[in-house]
Amino acid sequence: LFIAFEGGEGAGKSTQARRLARWLEDQGHTVTVTHEPGATDIGRDLRHLLLHGASGISPRTEALLYAADKAEHVDSMIKPVLAEGAVVITDRYVDSALAYQGGGRDLSQSELVRLSRWATGGLRPHLTVLLDLPPEAGLARVDGTPDRLEREPLEFHSRVRQQFLDLAALDPERYAVLDATQPVDELAAQIRNAVRPLLGG
Ligand code: C5P
Repeated sequence: LFIAFEGGEGAGKSTQARRLARWLEDQGHTVTVTHEPGATDIGRDLRHLLLHGASGISPRTEALLYAADKAEHVDSMIKPVLAEGAVVITDRYVDSALAYQGGGRDLSQSELVRLSRWATGGLRPHLTVLLDLPPEAGLARVDGTPDRLEREPLEFHSRVRQQFLDLAALDPERYAVLDATQPVDELAAQIRNAVRPLLGG
């Protein structure tokens, strides 16, 4: 079982991914929680370049570096772990590329879809949980020094949000779109409700 969490800055993805993992483990599942960008050795260097490196980076370069992170993540981690029969929960996946590099940077969606498909070898999550919230609310939750993306203007983050919502609307069966402004416990319960039908028996 492969589950992706998506959403803008400060949506609570990593908190909810960990909560879901704990719940699944309590039921006897083996779970790996991972994230993009930066879950592999090469990915960590790419993450640093992308978020804290040189200020000037062209949108296509950015898209290719995220795609490289994704390819390494899928090949060296996600696929082998799924092959062992474990559940993989990733904090960000293909939709982040389509939302940030597509919605945010205005690159062609169809080209990004092709690039992402190639980078992932076509591996798709069984469920994508979109934690939706207004960017103002999400950015207010970000603490510490903002990274390069968090310093983007509000309009950028609004386009990203809209792109996530548009993607979810195209494939409602595969998405759970949840209101990330609600209390953590309620949100966690809704996520469990979305996952339960996938667990079988
Ligand atoms: O979720 P996390 O904060 O770890 O993501 C790191 C940053 O990478 C975020 O600021 C996010 O906006 C950015 N990002 C991006 N394009 C992607 C994936 C992540 O701009 N495809």
